[in-house]
Amino acid sequence: MPTASQIIQVLASIGFIGLGVAMFVQWWRRRGRAEAMLAWSLGLFAVVAANGLIQRVWGTSRPLTAITFVAFLGSGYFVLLFRDAFLPLKPPIRRAATVLLVVGCGLGVVFATVLSTGGALRAGVTLALVLTWGAFMGEPIARFWMASRNQPAVQSSRMKAFSLGFAGLLTILLLAVIGGAALRSQVPTVLLDLVALALVPIIYVSFAPPSILRRIWRMGEENELRAAIQDLLIFTPGPQALAEQAIGWAWRLTGAQAAFLVDAGGNIVATRNIDRAAVQRILEGKGAEVRGFFPGTEGATAMIAPLRLTEGTGYIGVVAGSFTPLFGNDEINLLEGYASSVAAGLERTRVTERIATIEKHKSQFLNLASHELRGPLTVIRGYGSMLQGGLLGDLNERGRKAAPVMMAKILEMNALIEQMIEAARLEDGALLIKPEEADLCDIVTSAIAKVEPVLDEKHRIVLVSPNRPVLVMVDAQRVQTIVTNLIDNAVKYSPEGGDVTCIVTLRGGVARVSVKDTGIGIAKDDLPILFTRFGRVSNTSTNHFPGTGLGLYLGRQLARLQGGEITVESAAGDGSTFTLHLPAAEPSTGTGKVGELSQSVAPGGGVQLS
Ligand code: ADP
Repeated sequence: MPTASQIIQVLASIGFIGLGVAMFVQWWRRRGRAEAMLAWSLGLFAVVAANGLIQRVWGTSRPLTAITFVAFLGSGYFVLLFRDAFLPLKPPIRRAATVLLVVGCGLGVVFATVLSTGGALRAGVTLALVLTWGAFMGEPIARFWMASRNQPAVQSSRMKAFSLGFAGLLTILLLAVIGGAALRSQVPTVLLDLVALALVPIIYVSFAPPSILRRIWRMGEENELRAAIQDLLIFTPGPQALAEQAIGWAWRLTGAQAAFLVDAGGNIVATRNIDRAAVQRILEGKGAEVRGFFPGTEGATAMIAPLRLTEGTGYIGVVAGSFTPLFGNDEINLLEGYASSVAAGLERTRVTERIATIEKHKSQFLNLASHELRGPLTVIRGYGSMLQGGLLGDLNERGRKAAPVMMAKILEMNALIEQMIEAARLEDGALLIKPEEADLCDIVTSAIAKVEPVLDEKHRIVLVSPNRPVLVMVDAQRVQTIVTNLIDNAVKYSPEGGDVTCIVTLRGGVARVSVKDTGIGIAKDDLPILFTRFGRVSNTSTNHFPGTGLGLYLGRQLARLQGGEITVESAAGDGSTFTLHLPAAEPSTGTGKVGELSQSVAPGGGVQLS
C-alpha cells in the first residue's frame, strides 16, 4: 500500500516531467533562444524527476544517479543561460559558470559511481551539488523578481511566478538535504512533497499562462486603461504624443516586449524597444493583411491591428518577447478594440490641429488685411473730407448729396479696420490697457456724440444718467469704443427706427451702461454665438446687415481685460439690451465683484436708475 507521501511524490515527479515536455513543445513552436534555454532547464529537471521515479520502482542504480547529478546541475545552468538571453552575463561570469558546471558534473559522476549511498561524504557531496545549483539559480530568481516590478501586469505576474517556482524548488531541495533525519518523518515529508507538487502549476503558468489567468492578471490595469483611453480621446495634445502614449498602453495591455505605431502613409510614428528596420521587416512580412499574427524579431510573434483613419489604414503592432504570454485571440481582440480608440484619438488630434491652423491663418489674414487697408483708407478719408468741405472745388448738386454718404461709408470702413487691428492685437497679446479715472457718463456722452452725426431721422438716442459722476478706473478710449459699438449695433439692428436708450447706473460697486433698443432682437439659440470671434447671427432677416462679427467679441474681451463684462438680454423681435459692467472706482456698498453681480442682473433686467 503506497503512503500518501509516496503518491504525492509520484504525482510531483510526473508533474515535472510534464513541465519539461510542455516546455519543449513551446520551444518547438516559437524557436526563441530564451525558450530553448528554459526548455533545456526544465527538460533536464524532468530527467531528474524521471530518474527518481525509475529508481523508486527498480531500486537505485549508480549510472542513473550519475545521470541525475549531471541533469540536475544542467537544469540550474540553463536557468542561468535563460537569464543571459534577457540580460547578457559578463563573459567571465559565463565562463566561471561553465567551469563550475563541468567540475560539478565530473565530481558528481565520480562520487555517484564510487561512493556508497547513505554515507556522510555522500550527503556532503549532495549538499555541494544543491548549493552549486543554487548558485546558478539564485541570481536569476532575484533578478526576475526585481525586474517584474516595472513590467506590464501579465509579464510581471509571469516573472514573479517564475521566481517563486524556482525559489520554492531551491528551498525544498536545501531543506531536504540540510534537514536530514529531522525532515524524514511523515508530516514534514508530506508537507514538502505537497509544496513541490504546488510548484508545478506555478512554474507552468510562468511560461504558458492560460487566457483566463492572463485576463485576471490584467484586471488591475483595466481602470487605468479606461482612464488612459479617455485621455487619448480627449486630452492628448498632438498626434505624436498620442502615438507614444498609445503604444505604451498597447505594450502594457498585451504584456508585449516591443510596440510600434505606423500612420496611414506607412510612416513609423512611434516605437518602443524595437528599431525601425525590425518594424519595416514585420510590415513587409505581413503583406496585404491588416490584422493577425506575423513573424516578429528573433523568432518572436508580432501581432498587428489596423488603425482605420480618414486618410487610410495605419497599424498598431506589438511584438512578443521571451516573457510575453502566447499571443492568442484574446490579445488580438483586445488590441483591435484598443486600436479603434487610438484611431478615434488620432482623428481628434488631426481635427484639432486643422482647426488650430485655420485659426492661425485667420489671425494672420486679419492682421495683414487690416494693416494693409489702413494706409490707403487714410488717404481716401483725407480726400473725402476735402471734397465734402469744398477744398477741392465746388461740387454740383448730385456731388453735394453723394459726398456725405461717401464719407459715412468711409468712416464705417475705418471703424471696421480699427476693429480688425484691435482683434489682431488682442490675439498677439499686444493690446495695452491704460487705466485712468474717468466718468462713465462722459464716456457715454462722447460715444453718442460720435454716432449722432451719421444718425438717420428714424432713430433717436436717449441718455439716462445720474446727475453725479460715475467714476471708473478704465482705459476711457477703449470703453468708448465698446459703447460706440453697442450704440452702432442698436441703431443698425433696429431697421424700423426707434429710440436707443443709454442708461448709466452705479450700484453695489459696479458701474453699468445699458444700451436698449426696440429692434429685431436675438433668438435665445443665437445668443451664445454673439461674443465669439466673427460670430454673427445668420438668417434671412439678418444677412443683409453689413458687419464683421468682431465688435461684440472685442467688446467683451476689452471689458474683461478691465475687470468688467458685457451681458445681453434679448428675444427675437422684441429688442435687445446690452449692458457693459465695470468696477466702480469708488465702491459704494456691496462686494464690487462684477462676475457675481452681472450674473444676478442677467435674468432680471439690469435697467436701474441710481
Ligand atoms: P457685427 O455687428 O459687425 O456683425 P458684432 O460683434 O457687433 O458684429 O455683433 C455680432 C452679432 O450680434 C451681429 O451680427 C448681430 O447678429 C447680433 N447683434 C448685435 N447687436 C445686436 C442688436 N442690438 N440687436 C440685434 N442683434 C444684434
